[in-house]
Amino acid sequence: LSIAGCDLVALAAEHGTPLYVYDQATMDAAAAAYAAALARFYPGPSGITYAAKAFLCLAIAQWVQRRGLWLDCTGAGEIAVAVAAGLDRRLILVPGVPKSTAALAAALAHAGTLVVDNLVELERIASLARPAQEPLPDLWLRLRPGLAVATHHAFTQTGQEDSKFGMSLEEARRAVRLCQEQGLRVNGIHFHQGSHFHDPQPISPALDLVLEFIARLRRDAGWLPEVLSPGGGWGVAYHESELPHPAIDDYVRFVARQLEEGCRHHNLPLPRLQLEPGRSLVARAGVALYRLGAVKRTAN
Ligand SMILES: *Cc1c(COP(=O)(O)O)cnc(C)c1O
Repeated sequence: LSIAGCDLVALAAEHGTPLYVYDQATMDAAAAAYAAALARFYPGPSGITYAAKAFLCLAIAQWVQRRGLWLDCTGAGEIAVAVAAGLDRRLILVPGVPKSTAALAAALAHAGTLVVDNLVELERIASLARPAQEPLPDLWLRLRPGLAVATHHAFTQTGQEDSKFGMSLEEARRAVRLCQEQGLRVNGIHFHQGSHFHDPQPISPALDLVLEFIARLRRDAGWLPEVLSPGGGWGVAYHESELPHPAIDDYVRFVARQLEEGCRHHNLPLPRLQLEPGRSLVARAGVALYRLGAVKRTAN
């Protein structure tokens, strides 16, 4: 049994079990599929952030840097891995989840981009930030568009109105004003509709709401985000019965076209489109090796 020419029995003997083995060629192919689809379907600037909760270790963080991706780090632990891997600050993005004091301090010290989850957090950032002293992360606001998408499980929906993540449109409007008053650089909008979905269609109404909101903010507050991130969450097949894997191309084409059309409709310049896939970059590449310990017989 081998993967990419590596004998798995020999690997298990060398490293012990359980052993998690990731095939870089498979990850490269997924990253290349995202990059090619963005280049083909989106005429504006674009980028890819790997959502580290799908799997993170030093080697993966270094792979992210080699491939020119950004790394989405949740919590002080993942930020510490990114720092230990020697990641350029600009590649480290801390997402819009509520942050502990330690995570917020780590984000301010090490992140290139910090996605703000709520107004209390923004006030904390404003009081902690010392703009004159250090490079501060760019701030993005995480919106809660108030619409649900069908994911495999209700607990992986994150964009609906009663989601614990992100700000209402009204809160985001106040956040922009607060940033303007405090001289904080806020240049992106993020929203995320949920994880492990196989049909991109429901992103469309959420995207439309977000673009309408941006158009209104531009009129009322003279503010326009440079970056728009519709998060990640594209599914993979977990079982043979679910094959083929949902095509990365289908997802990127849909989001790119919707964004381009929406911008035209609302008379907005094309923002940088930053996608944030996790599992669809790495899930196919990973295997776990175990050693048989004992054979148990059951009644039937
Ligand atoms: C989990 C998560 C992702 C990635 O989800 P996948 O299903 O692994 O692609 C992207 N963005 C945010 C905000 C997340 O919480």
